[in-house]
Amino acid sequence: MKTLLAIDQGTTSSRAILFSKGGDILDSHAKELTLFYPHKGWVEQDANDIWADSLWACQSIIDNLKESQEIVAIGIANQRETTILWDRETGEPLYNAIVWQDRRTADYCAQLKSQGHEKAVTEKTGLLLDPYFSATKIKWILDNVEGLRTRAEAGEIAFGTVDSFLLWNLTKGKVHATDATNAGRTLLYNIRDGGWDDELLELFDIPKNILPAVHDNAHDFGEAEIGNKTYPIGGMAGDQHAALIGQTCFKHGMVKSTYGTGCFALMNSGTEFKPSKNKLLSTIGYQLNGQTTYAVEGAIFVAGAAIQWLRDNLNFFDDASESDALATSVDDNNEVYFVPAFTGLGAPHWDPHARAAILGLSRESTKAHITRAALEAQAYQTLDLLQAFIDDSGYDPEILRIDGGLASNAFVCQFLADMLGRKVEVPKVTETTALGAAYLAGLQVGIYKDLDDIAQNWQSAKQYSPNIPENERKKLYNGWKDAVSRVVNT
Ligand code: ADP
Repeated sequence: MKTLLAIDQGTTSSRAILFSKGGDILDSHAKELTLFYPHKGWVEQDANDIWADSLWACQSIIDNLKESQEIVAIGIANQRETTILWDRETGEPLYNAIVWQDRRTADYCAQLKSQGHEKAVTEKTGLLLDPYFSATKIKWILDNVEGLRTRAEAGEIAFGTVDSFLLWNLTKGKVHATDATNAGRTLLYNIRDGGWDDELLELFDIPKNILPAVHDNAHDFGEAEIGNKTYPIGGMAGDQHAALIGQTCFKHGMVKSTYGTGCFALMNSGTEFKPSKNKLLSTIGYQLNGQTTYAVEGAIFVAGAAIQWLRDNLNFFDDASESDALATSVDDNNEVYFVPAFTGLGAPHWDPHARAAILGLSRESTKAHITRAALEAQAYQTLDLLQAFIDDSGYDPEILRIDGGLASNAFVCQFLADMLGRKVEVPKVTETTALGAAYLAGLQVGIYKDLDDIAQNWQSAKQYSPNIPENERKKLYNGWKDAVSRVVNT
């Protein structure tokens, strides 16, 4: 039986999952990854752990393989933007991995913005001048680790996001490459023309010779050497892009939304690059056979984290899944709204200084109402995003495909359908990130003929249809908009 091995290297864990051609999970191994916070706003990981844990997860799958199972290709999906520099000779990382959440370069970004650089950067990259992306992290390492800039200029140093670092290690230093989706999150890659951009490299003061080669998402990336065997690496993509593929959103206007700690929604926006008018990100959805398909991306910083907060800080329940029964123990929200802006508001509001608030409390409000309000907030936030998507793209999706921890909450799914006024579908396989990496690898080695062949694998586990009167929907959403206006700093 031919199988595909996917590495899903995330912020909280490193995982390997074995898939059948039909997309069923055959085996899975994961290890938690430690985050370090050396200063306020700094977030780092040990790059050696990222590699060692990913290798361990792959080896565990290989050790567990049944006689009948054969791994025909490996695919990699990864936490995006996280930045690693290493020595080309020894492969040793030269600083910890600086994680996407790290804000140490905020002042530098603000300085570039005040100098008026953002517009040009957005036109080339689809992104904003924000510490989130890799470029300013690379510059920080080059400027702050002694002797590194000179060594970089001498060609002794390699840069990569996590995909690239894993590829280098899996191929024992033979391949220094990345894929277009990961390259597109560095602020150095021109997603309109496809290529590292000399002007951007100059702006961020980064030598070109540290950069990896950039390829399609399905590509012959090299041979992984694990134990005494080799396996072709056929696919790579950043995690949200892999999830778009795992959810088989291959048509213009199709949307996937992942509800984990935060929420990331991506809409397939076709083959034409258009920067957003609504402060959404424009990004490469995927690139196959040299053809780029773009996506519009909206990020909600706090989704499931609000439920975690109710659990851990207010002790409302012991397990996040209890929030479902608690929310449905009351008939409605009793006009309570919860704006979960714990770390500011992301798209489309972009207010880093906004803070969370629970509004509309009265004497009869209970923890059930507050919990319900926290779950309802997921849908209101998604509707804010969806309206920006529609305004940007002119496309109005009929269906939203969702995944992530919150997709197991039936109240959230139904309320999403109600508020969006659209169908919400949960797929049978919810490990969509790993699945997307497996699909890319399978595409490369001929397990799948084309995207249509892959799309046939998608199966709905549950479907929710809108089921509230329009006037009630409007009333609820107006209540939300009013609540948001009270936390946004204008
Ligand atoms: P991540 O990949 O970001 O670690 P997951 O997709 O594993 O996140 O989802 C975990 C998040 O979803 C947690 O914040 C948790 O509070 C929330 N969550 C998980 N299950 C439920 C549920 N049944 N109801 C509400 N929230 C849930």
